[in-house]
Amino acid sequence: TMNTQPPEHLLHVMHAHQEEHRFISDQAVNSIAEKLKLPRAQVEAVREFYAFFHSKPRGTYDLLFSNCTSCGSPSLMRQLCELLHVTADKTRSDGAVSIGETSCIGMCDHGASLLVNGRPLHSLDGSRIEAIAKLIEAATPVEQWPAEWFEINNHIHRSDLLLKESFTPGAALHAVEAGGADAALEKIRFSDLRGRGGAGFSTAQKWQFCREAAGDTRYVICNADEGEPGTFKDRVLLTSYADAVFEGMALCGRIIGARQGYIYLRAEYRYLLDRLENRLAERREAGLLGEKILGIEGFDFDIEIVVGAGAYICGEESALIESLEEKPGNPRIRPPFPVTHGYMGKPTVVNNVETLAAAAAIVLHGERWFRGAGTWQSRGTKILSVSGDCARPGIYEYPFGVSINDILKDCGAVQVQAVQVGGPSGRLVDPSHFDHHIAFEDLATGGSLMIFHHSRNLLEVIRNFTCFFTHESCGFCTPCRVGTALLKNGMDKVASGHGTAHDLDELKATAALVSRRSHCGLGMTAPNPIRDGLKYFPELFEARLLHQEMEPEFNLDASLEEARQLTHRDDAEAHL
Ligand code: SF4
Repeated sequence: TMNTQPPEHLLHVMHAHQEEHRFISDQAVNSIAEKLKLPRAQVEAVREFYAFFHSKPRGTYDLLFSNCTSCGSPSLMRQLCELLHVTADKTRSDGAVSIGETSCIGMCDHGASLLVNGRPLHSLDGSRIEAIAKLIEAATPVEQWPAEWFEINNHIHRSDLLLKESFTPGAALHAVEAGGADAALEKIRFSDLRGRGGAGFSTAQKWQFCREAAGDTRYVICNADEGEPGTFKDRVLLTSYADAVFEGMALCGRIIGARQGYIYLRAEYRYLLDRLENRLAERREAGLLGEKILGIEGFDFDIEIVVGAGAYICGEESALIESLEEKPGNPRIRPPFPVTHGYMGKPTVVNNVETLAAAAAIVLHGERWFRGAGTWQSRGTKILSVSGDCARPGIYEYPFGVSINDILKDCGAVQVQAVQVGGPSGRLVDPSHFDHHIAFEDLATGGSLMIFHHSRNLLEVIRNFTCFFTHESCGFCTPCRVGTALLKNGMDKVASGHGTAHDLDELKATAALVSRRSHCGLGMTAPNPIRDGLKYFPELFEARLLHQEMEPEFNLDASLEEARQLTHRDDAEAHL
C-alpha cells in the first residue's frame, strides 16, 4: 500500500473512544498506547493537549456552544444550563448532559451554533433551546433530532473565478498531463498565486523549494484546519468544490514528486468526513487517485484525511505536522521549514484549501485567466467569509482590491462601528479605513471578515478575542502562555469598569512584549485586537476607566490601614 501512515491514526482512535465512552480514562490511555505501539506518555500528552479529548466523563449529551462573536451566544448557553440544571463545564450528576464553550465552530453564517456530540447544530434561538432541553430530558438520541437542524447550507452570495463554475473531476489532471508537470508549475508561477491562508507566500516558489529539497519521499498537506474565528470558506470549498482541492493536491504531488497527501481537517468539520471519504473512493474508482492516475505509469498519488481535535494552533503549519505525526500540536522551531523538513522530517508542501483549489483552476484555465483579476501584488480572487451584523452573511468571492465599503454594501451592513479583517489575529478597523482594500499589500485576510454594528459593545468584542488567544495558546513558550493570560486579565479589568490609566499602560507594554517575544504567529498576533482597539477606539477604553488619572496598582499605605486597626497600633513612622 502507498500509505506510510499506520492504518489507524491516534487522533481517530481517540475520537472513537471518546465518542463511545464520553472520556478517555487512564486505563484507556494504556490500552490505546499498547494497541498503536506508541509510548504511553505520548498518548497521555495528546489527551491533555487537545480540547476535544477529556480525562473526566462528559455527559451522554455533550454540548459545546461556540463562543465566537459571530456564531456564539452566551445568553442561549445560560438558558440551556438553567433549563437542564447544569453548571457549565460540570457533567450533571446523572451523567446525562454536559455543557461548555468552544472556540468558533465555523458556522458564522448560520447564527448562534453549538456542537452536540461533535455535530454542528445552528440557528439557535430561545425556542430551539427549549426544544433541545426537552429532547435531552426525554433521552432522544441525537440521530432522531430534527434533521433540518443539522442541514448546513453554503450561502454563496457572490462568486467570481473559482466559485462561478462547477469543477469537472479529472479536468485539471488532464490539463497537467497535456502540458507536462514543468509547464504546470510555470503556469502557477506566472499566475502569481500566493497562499490563501493569510501569509501570502508564493505558491510556485514553495513547490519549487520542496521539489528541489534533498530526499526521495515528499508529502503534500492540505491545511483544512480553518480555525480563525469568523472563517468558514473552507467548509464551503470542501462541501461543493472538493474535487478541485483534491486535484490541486494531486497536481502538486505530480510537480514536486510526492505520492502521498494528507488533508488535516478541523474536528468541527468532522461531519464532512464521510462525504469526503466517499468522494475519494469514487475518484480511486475513476482512476483519478491512487496508482497510475489517468492510466499513467508512475503517476501515483493518494490522499488520507486526518481529523484534528479542537486546537486552533494546529492551523500553524509546523504544529499541524506535529499533530499529523500523532503528537501534541506544538509549533516547531523554524528553520528548518516544512519544505525541506516537514512531515516525518521529509520535504513537505503545506497549502491552504483555497490555494490548492486555485492551483487546480489555474492549470485548467490558464494563468491569464487568473492574473486578469486582482491587483498587481495580489492576483486573482479571494473568497471571504462575511459574518456578524449584516443582512446577508455568507461567502463572497471578490477580485483582490475590493474595498471594505463595497463588501459592506453587498452584504447589507449599515451603521457599522468596526470591521475585523482576518479574524482576531488580523486587523480591527474603524470607518476611516473602509475605503481600504482587501489585498496582501493593504488589508490581508485568510478569509474572515466580521462586522460590528454601532450597538455592539466593542470592548466586549476585544475582550472576547483576547480570551480566544488565552484559551488557544499552546503553552509552549512563556511570553505567550503568561502574556495572553495577563492581557485577558487586563481586558477583564478594563471591560468590567475596574481599570485605571495605569492598567492601560500595562496592557500596552504587555501587548508589545507578547508580540515581540512569542515563538509563533499565535503569540505574535494575540495582542492585535487590543493594539488596534487602543489605536482606533481609545475613547471606549477611557470611558470605562475608574479614574482618569494615573494610579498605582497597589496602595501599600492603604492596605496597611486594616492591620493598624486590627492591632490598634498606628505608629507615625510606619506611614508611607
Ligand atoms: Fe504556543 Fe503561543 Fe508560543 Fe505559539 S506563541 S508556541 S501558541 S505558546
